[in-house]
Amino acid sequence: MDAETQEVPVLPGRLTNLRSRLPKPQERSLTSIFVIGTLFSGSTLMGRDMTARIKMAHYVGELNNFTQVPDFSHKDSGRGCGPCSLLGKQCRHFTDALRDRVSYDDILGMHEQFARSLGVSAIVDGSKFVAWMRRAVEQRAVEQRVADRASRTAVSAIITVRNPIAFAISHRNRTGEALWRGAGIWRDTYVDALRTANFHGLPQLVVRYEDYMADRERSLERLAAFLHLPLSPKPDNTSIHDTGGNWSSFVPYVGREQLEKFIQQLHGSGRTDAENFIKHARAYWNDEKPQEDTRWHNSINAGDAHGVLSTPGLADVASILGYNIAEVVHLAIKG
Ligand SMILES: [Zn+2]
Repeated sequence: MDAETQEVPVLPGRLTNLRSRLPKPQERSLTSIFVIGTLFSGSTLMGRDMTARIKMAHYVGELNNFTQVPDFSHKDSGRGCGPCSLLGKQCRHFTDALRDRVSYDDILGMHEQFARSLGVSAIVDGSKFVAWMRRAVEQRAVEQRVADRASRTAVSAIITVRNPIAFAISHRNRTGEALWRGAGIWRDTYVDALRTANFHGLPQLVVRYEDYMADRERSLERLAAFLHLPLSPKPDNTSIHDTGGNWSSFVPYVGREQLEKFIQQLHGSGRTDAENFIKHARAYWNDEKPQEDTRWHNSINAGDAHGVLSTPGLADVASILGYNIAEVVHLAIKG
């Protein structure tokens, strides 16, 4: 769907007149795509695959951390390019100069800077917070009145999701919180994601992690079609530049050994955070691309499942996102 025709109300009698005033598709400077969803929904993995396979698109990672936006960023993380720093390379794109030039006060302007530096037409922003996307859309609404550039920036959303039971288990592993706490976060995040994308009329695509892991090719075809960009048959892993992301997501790109070495060199709280983060995931590391998401299968009892499902509205939201909740429960319960 064409974002411009969707966003401008077109009345039949005024069609010709309006069409002439709309920018032609080839004049559009940039598409900004926001990945929104919870942690553990596979956004980094999907994003890097998009960089490697969809030619004019680049996943840039967690720009909320890069710009240290108040309330929605982790201190001391995501300030540089993850893949380059792990490989001991100087990044040509996530530079100090660029960081000084950009701000969370102009998110789409920052996307333009990255697009220019990376030579692409679509920037995939992996910040994941719905509030971050909302901020960008609100900035666009203000700028649209004064600038031509902003009116040409098309914004869309990719909603990444992992089923609520798997999320609640990962959340418990990571934080020690009860399953029902994670279930509440899951429900609130996706209610907010869906209502925000719909309220602003943004084109959107739901990518379920389980489907992604089961058939990545099919998911990448969907993503390329959504962006109106061609999918390359072979991945190009040589120019992956992004910031932040789950430690485990680096394994397929740099190898287990290199990542272990890097974490050992960290100091103080950075090292403790990294060790905590990977405590449960490390056992599953291997140098291959991750396989199907089955870690949560056969892992909880009926009481735990009830703790997740008794969250009001959760089953409804899961159904809207395309889950067969009965099947999810069946797979999750120890039998
Ligand atoms: Zn880099």
